[in-house]
Amino acid sequence: MDRQFLEELEKIAGPVLRQEPMSGHTTFRVGGPADMLVRPRTEQLAPVIRLCQRYGESYCVIGNGSNLLVGDGGIRGLVIETLARDEDATVRGERIEAGAGMLLSRTAQTALAHGLCGMEFAAGIPGTVGGAVVMNAGAYGGEMKDIIESAVVIDRDGNERELSAGELELDYRSSCILRNGYLVKQVVLHLTPGEPAAIRARMEELRIQRTSKQPLECPSAGSTFKRPQGYFAGKLIMDAGMRGYRVGGAQVSEKHCGFVVNTGGATAEDIRKLIWDVSGEVQRQFGVALEPEVKMIGEFTRDTAEEED
Ligand SMILES: Cc1cc2nc3c(=O)[nH]c(=O)nc-3n(C[C@H](O)[C@H](O)[C@H](O)COP(=O)(O)OP(=O)(O)OC[C@H]3O[C@@H](n4cnc5c(N)ncnc54)[C@H](O)[C@@H]3O)c2cc1C
Repeated sequence: MDRQFLEELEKIAGPVLRQEPMSGHTTFRVGGPADMLVRPRTEQLAPVIRLCQRYGESYCVIGNGSNLLVGDGGIRGLVIETLARDEDATVRGERIEAGAGMLLSRTAQTALAHGLCGMEFAAGIPGTVGGAVVMNAGAYGGEMKDIIESAVVIDRDGNERELSAGELELDYRSSCILRNGYLVKQVVLHLTPGEPAAIRARMEELRIQRTSKQPLECPSAGSTFKRPQGYFAGKLIMDAGMRGYRVGGAQVSEKHCGFVVNTGGATAEDIRKLIWDVSGEVQRQFGVALEPEVKMIGEFTRDTAEEED
C-alpha cells in the first residue's frame, strides 16, 4: 500500500479505516474486510476520486449498503462510503437539493416538513439518495424516476457534470450510473405542493404495510430478486416450495419469500449459494429467470460475483 497515497487521502477525507469489516456497513451484516474505507463529505468526493486516479488505486462507492452483498474475502482497494446521516437538504420552492449520502427517509421527512408530496413511497427505503438514483429505487407505485430532475455525477477522472433525468437512463431498478462508472454527488428532486396531513397519513399507511409484510426484524437487503416480467419473484419462490429454504445462516424468509434473510451467522457465500439455488429451482420448475436485484461486490470464495452482477 502506498504510504504517500494514504497520507494524501487522510488529508482530503479524514481517517482511513484499514481492514474494515464490511459486515458493519451492509444491512445483510455480512462481508469481509475492505483494505481501506473512507467517509468523505460531499465536497470531498471529487478530490478523492482524482487522488485514486493519480495513484492508479481502485475504488468502489457505497451508500448505506442496503442493496449490497459483499464477499467474505472483502474488498481490495478503497471503499468510498457516502452515507452522511446528519446531512441536511436545501429546499427551494418545490425542489429539494440533497447530497448523495443523505438518507432517503430523512429526505422524505424534509419533504413532509415543507409540505411537498411525491416522496411518500421512499420514506421506508433504507438507502441513501445516491444509492436510490443508482437503483432507481421504488415502492408502492412510486419510483425515483418520478421525482428526479437532475443529478451531479463525478466520472472516473474526477470531473463533475450535471445529468438530466433523461440522461440518467432511469429504468426498473437500473440507471446509467454503474454502466458508466459514475459516482452520484448530488441530486435535485422536483416535488409538488401537498397537504402535510395527507402526506403524513400516506407515509404511515405504507409504513404499516411494510412492517406487516416484510421481515424487517432480520438483516436483509430488501427484495433479493428483480420482479420478472409478468410475475412476482416472491410468489414464484413460494410456489417452487422454497419458503424457509436454508443454506447455513441464510434463509428464504418465511414472512416474505422475496427476501433472503440472515438468521444470524450467515456468510456471503451462504447467501450467494442460496440465491443460486433459488433461481435454479424457479428456472427448472417455471422456466422463469430470476435476476438478483442485490449487487454483489468484492471477493467471494468462488469468483462468480462479476458474472452475476
Ligand atoms: C429492509 C429493506 C427494504 C428495502 N425496500 C426497498 C424498496 O421498497 N424499494 C427499493 O427499490 N429498494 C429497497 N431496498 C433496497 C435498497 O434500500 C435500495 O436499493 C437503495 O436504493 C440502496 O441504497 P444504498 O445507499 O443502501 O446503496 P448501496 O446498497 O450502498 O449501493 C447500491 C449500489 O449503488 C452503488 N452506489 C451507492 N451509492 C452510490 C453513489 N453515490 N454513486 C454511485 N454509486 C453508488 C453501489 O456501488 C451499489 O452498486 C430495501 C432494502 C432493505 C434492507
